[in-house]
Amino acid sequence: MRFPLVLSLFGASLAAAQPGVHQHGHALLGIAEEAGEVVVELETPAANLLGFEHAPATAEEQAALAEVLRTLADHRNVVALLGQRGELVCSQVESALDSALLSEGQAHDEHHDHDHAGSTAHDHDEDEHADFHARYVLDCPDTALTGVQGRLLENFPAVLELELQWVLEAGQGGAVLTPARPQWRF
Ligand SMILES: [Zn+2]
Repeated sequence: MRFPLVLSLFGASLAAAQPGVHQHGHALLGIAEEAGEVVVELETPAANLLGFEHAPATAEEQAALAEVLRTLADHRNVVALLGQRGELVCSQVESALDSALLSEGQAHDEHHDHDHAGSTAHDHDEDEHADFHARYVLDCPDTALTGVQGRLLENFPAVLELELQWVLEAGQGGAVLTPARPQWRF
């Protein structure tokens, strides 16, 4: 899998306690720190960011998707990493973004005929769900990570709960960030 951190941080509890990761209004944020590098992973229903979960069908929907991709390209729009004296200056050494919407969008026309040829149900299902997964590897020299600010909550008001899990050199834990309480100190 391309997103091992979120899966390992959340996999066990989610499998045990919840019907699925995919819950509108809810998003998962995993943070791990190792040897000066910080790995951030986000998993969220597409509806939280886009308002829809099908492959973009109109120019407006395509523009909305492009805007979400622009926003997610920079980890600072997802989370601010905080040190003792404010936001850490981290360079983004690696980022990856994945969503069923992206491959559907690209391969939409080719797959369309196939879908209709053999099946009577489930073609471009309106109740199909889609997620966004984002992963960032950050180089944060010199300063210790002591907290986070969930910027995703500010940028995407449909996110009502940002479930945070962290594995840091100082320890591990979890918390739920909300629009009313978007910041957490470890
Ligand atoms: Zn959904």
